[in-house]
Amino acid sequence: MQDRPNRDLSKSNAQFRRAVKRLPLGVSSTFRYWGDDRTVYVHHGKGGRTWDIDGNGYVDYRLGYGPAILGYADDRVDAAARKGMEVGGVFALSTEKELIVADRIAKMVPAAELVRFSNSGTEAVMAALRLARAFTGREEYLLVEGGYHGLFDAAMWMADMEGWTPGSNADPDVVPYGKGIPPTVKKLAHLVPMNDMQRLEDTFRKHGDRLAAMLIEPIQGNCCAIMARVEYVRLARELCDRYGVMLIIDEVKTGFRVGKGGIQGILGVKPDITTFAKAVANGYPIALVAGREDVMRTFRYGGASHGGTYTAHSVSLAAAEECLRILDETPALETLANHGTQLMAGISAILNARGIVHSYSGHPSMFGLFFDAAPPDNYRAWKASDYSFYDRMAHYLHDLGIIVEPDSREPWFMCEAHGLDATCLTDTLAAVERAVDLTL
Ligand code: PMP
Repeated sequence: MQDRPNRDLSKSNAQFRRAVKRLPLGVSSTFRYWGDDRTVYVHHGKGGRTWDIDGNGYVDYRLGYGPAILGYADDRVDAAARKGMEVGGVFALSTEKELIVADRIAKMVPAAELVRFSNSGTEAVMAALRLARAFTGREEYLLVEGGYHGLFDAAMWMADMEGWTPGSNADPDVVPYGKGIPPTVKKLAHLVPMNDMQRLEDTFRKHGDRLAAMLIEPIQGNCCAIMARVEYVRLARELCDRYGVMLIIDEVKTGFRVGKGGIQGILGVKPDITTFAKAVANGYPIALVAGREDVMRTFRYGGASHGGTYTAHSVSLAAAEECLRILDETPALETLANHGTQLMAGISAILNARGIVHSYSGHPSMFGLFFDAAPPDNYRAWKASDYSFYDRMAHYLHDLGIIVEPDSREPWFMCEAHGLDATCLTDTLAAVERAVDLTL
C-alpha cells in the first residue's frame, strides 16, 4: 500500500470558509463545489495546466468543461481579444466581424448555412428549440436519455434510474434535474434511450406529428462520451424528415473539437439546426445557433424572437475569429487528438499490466473511461455499471496533480497545449499509475 498523496489545500479551504458566507456553496456554479475540504480555487491557468491558490499545479483535463481547446490564456487568441476590447464591447448595433466569423463557420460546417450568435450553450439551445417550434408550429420535443442541453426548464428532464430495474423493458420515470422546474413543462418532453432504433421509431409513430424537434448529442459530453451509433443518427434524420421534425444536433461540446466539421461531419448527417459554444472562442463567452436557411430565417420580426444585450460582443467575436482560424488552418485539432490517443494508450498499458478490464468511448479529443470490457451505449447501461473505481481514482488523481471531473460522467478533454508540451503526457501517466495502485 502506497502512502496517500498529500496535497495542501489550506488556502482553498480557508477561501471556501470565507466564500460560503457570501456565495451559495462558495461557488458560482454548483458543479464547482467538490466538498467543504476539496473545493479548489484557481489562481490561474496556462496551456494545459491550472494552478490553485495554494500553488498546486495540475494537468487539466476538464478545461472548463471543454472551452479551452487550444489551452488556457492562449497568446494568439488573447491578443485578438485585446484588440476586440478596443472596439468597445456592445452597441445594440452590429459589427462587420459578425459576418467574417459566420462565413468561417459556414465554411467549416456546411449545415451552418445561416448563423446567429448567443452567449452560452444554454442560450443557444433555448433559441434552437424556440426556432424549431416557431418553424413547425408544434410544441413537443424529444430528448435522448443521458443528454444535457443546459439549464433551462425544457431541457431539464431526465430518466429516473432509482426505481428502475436494469434490463427492464419498461421506461423509467421522467424526473426534473432538481427543484424549481414546473411539472407542466414535462408534458411537452419525451425521452428515448440512446441507440434503441425500435424505441425511436415507436416514439415517432406515437408522437411524431406533434414534435417540433429532436435534440441529440451524438457524443454525450455529459454522460461519459457515450456514442450514438451512426445508424441511430441516420434513423433520427430519416424520421425527422418523415414527420416534419427539426433535427437539432447539440455540438456545444463536440463542435470545433472532434473535427473541423464537428460530429455531424464525422457521421455524415446534416441536422436542420446545430448549436455550438465551448470551443468557438477558446473560452470567451460566445455560442451559436446555426442551420438551414429557410429555418433560420424564422428569426425575424413576427417570427421567433432572438437577441440579447451581449450577443456578438466585440471581445468574444474577435477571440472567435482567431480561435476558429487556428482550428481551421493549423493542425491544432490533430495535435490535441494525438495527445488523446497517446494518453488512452498509456492509460491502457497501465491498466492492462494490472489486469484491469477497461474501455473508452467518445473521441480522442474528449473520451470517457470505463472499467468494463465495452463502454455502455446508453444512459441506462451506464447507470447500471460500476463506476466506483473511477470515482475513487479521480480523487487520487486530484491529489497527484491531475484535474478530471470527480465522477465519470464528464469526459477527459484535450487541448492543443497538452499535445505541444510532452511533460503533460508523462506527468499524467505517472500520476495515473500511482492513482490506480492507490485505488486497487
Ligand atoms: N449543451 C451541451 C451539450 C453542453 O455540454 C452544455 C454545457 N455543458 C450546454 C448545452 C450548456 O452550455 P452552457 O453551460 O454554456 O450554458
